[in-house]
Amino acid sequence: MKGASHLSNAVLKVTNQTLNKMKNHYGSFLKDKAPPSTVFAAKKDGITITAYQSGKVLFQGSGADKEAGIWGSSEPKSTPKKTTRAVDQHSWAPPANIKELSIIGSDEVGTGDYFGPMTVVAAFVSRENMNRLKMLGVKDSKNLTDTQISAIAKEIAPIIPHSLLVLHNEKYNDLQAKGMTQGKIKALLHNQAINHVIKKVKNADEINGVLIDQFVVPETYYRHIKGKQQDWKGKTYFATKGESVHLAVAAASIIARYAFVEEFRKLSEKAGMELKKGAGSQVDQVAARLIKQKGEEALYSFTKVHFGNTDKAKRLAQR
Ligand code: MG
Repeated sequence: MKGASHLSNAVLKVTNQTLNKMKNHYGSFLKDKAPPSTVFAAKKDGITITAYQSGKVLFQGSGADKEAGIWGSSEPKSTPKKTTRAVDQHSWAPPANIKELSIIGSDEVGTGDYFGPMTVVAAFVSRENMNRLKMLGVKDSKNLTDTQISAIAKEIAPIIPHSLLVLHNEKYNDLQAKGMTQGKIKALLHNQAINHVIKKVKNADEINGVLIDQFVVPETYYRHIKGKQQDWKGKTYFATKGESVHLAVAAASIIARYAFVEEFRKLSEKAGMELKKGAGSQVDQVAARLIKQKGEEALYSFTKVHFGNTDKAKRLAQR
């Protein structure tokens, strides 16, 4: 058993960006009540982590040193280790109080699936709506089954302003064939969905900001949508794992997932066989069957043809 000598304290001084990142990192361990002048308080594996607005973070308990070591050394002015720099440490990082703001969140589904469309949703969640959404079960959709997602999506879709864009396979393949990257396609759709939602919010002054579930670095996102109409003139934030940063992204993600699953079901009916999600070897098998039954051209309206699965399926179909 570990004795009292293992109890330790460590103090770090971190940047605002690191504070945000830490708050996300400890998202599921947050204490309900954070003491005054703190950004958050969390308890993980017996270690209490208290982050102050000053940027000081206190780690208390057995293993505190090691836990603090994830974020930097406890020398107040030392530069953080390179490994602590994350893709979402940039000037578009959401502020520490993002969870208290009324936000338009956007997310997409289907980009890694060979079969089926890409669905993009932007959704507005106001402060007033947050508790209701939580009661309805809105959380990170990665922790929800498709059945749960469908039930929640049906409840929330009528109560939050949102825009759902479905990019069907033919259109996707057309854009891809014209030389558009998937990243650019995504960026254009996110921008479009955000534009749509702004128009649906009755009082646009209510919107405190936009949070995009980060799929490219912000500089690239803005390069992709350069010259396009951008109705949102306020603050835009980018964060990876945006679902855990704000309910608006979680809600957008749930509606996008629901739409994807529904479209996928329709597509399976159209194909006359159960299509598979993802892009693994089972997907190749199904695609080969589809080629045998409907011909190679059919792939254009069922799949993202530029995926490597196309060649594999063609080879399988020839056997
Ligand atoms: Mg995403």
